[in-house]
Amino acid sequence: MKITVVGSMSTDFVVTTKVKPNQGETVFGEKFATAFGGKGANQAVAASRLGMDVAMVGAVGKDDFGTAILDNLVKNGVAVTGVERVTHAESGSAHIVLYDNDNSIIVIPAANNEVKPANIEKFTDQLLTSDLVILQNEIPQETNEAIIDFCWQNGIQTLLNPAPARSIAKEYIEKLTYLTPNEHESAIIFPDQSRSEVLAQYPNKLIITLGAMGAIYHDGIKEEIVPAFEVQPVDTTGAGDTFNAAMATALLQGLEMSAALRFANLAAAISVQGFGAQGGMPTLEKMKEQSQ
Ligand code: ADP
Repeated sequence: MKITVVGSMSTDFVVTTKVKPNQGETVFGEKFATAFGGKGANQAVAASRLGMDVAMVGAVGKDDFGTAILDNLVKNGVAVTGVERVTHAESGSAHIVLYDNDNSIIVIPAANNEVKPANIEKFTDQLLTSDLVILQNEIPQETNEAIIDFCWQNGIQTLLNPAPARSIAKEYIEKLTYLTPNEHESAIIFPDQSRSEVLAQYPNKLIITLGAMGAIYHDGIKEEIVPAFEVQPVDTTGAGDTFNAAMATALLQGLEMSAALRFANLAAAISVQGFGAQGGMPTLEKMKEQSQ
């Protein structure tokens, strides 16, 4: 089964400090680390580790960061022929400062904003040979809309993980196969309806993740909560990314929605026990070990 992820790739630059600099001030911090990120790349890596045939579509700059991002995808078994290297923008990055109980993040989308609807022609073959196309909200909205339209016209299944939150027209929700917001994103997409109303409106399509509570959907007859696994999380970055990739993997392998969500909850529970978005993402072997 082939999954194509059309989305973002970036490098996270993470600084840990005890003192916050005031305006114009320089302080000494504690630690610095880089990590691979971008919701698109994270979901591609997670699906590949779970045994799917995965292709990434998107853009990085012609800089060293772009080269490292591609190397990391290849190392994780993700095909990168659909990733464009652009000269007019640098690779995407996130600049994260961790204070005691606090953090601040500046995201520079850069090349991720260069994935334009006009580029779709360059990767229609990738889309047409996919069993499922996964999208997130870190590339331009009009590109997501063009891909949803294209896939809908060509009978290709689509999953939109609407993170970070932004609203989406009902027309596109109708054309999606799956929509997977967390609670906060769901409230932004459906501001005028209760959670139960929207779940009933989109049975087996709308899956709302509930953090440590698991996930909820409507099976056509009733609402069902699929509870999360109880674990001690060390880093919940990328939990949603692992969840989405695992859910997609399970559904493509023919599991029913509730079994697919159980599989997704397990993958995400394993991922929150490792550091960094991609650090804890499980392989299929690890999943088998844990489910015994
Ligand atoms: P996001 O990371 O996108 O905000 P959630 O916080 O809803 O999304 O988490 C996504 C999924 O990750 C949940 O549905 C659950 O399966 C898993 N998860 C998140 N936090 C925990 C936790 N503390 N313990 C166990 N599983 C978790």
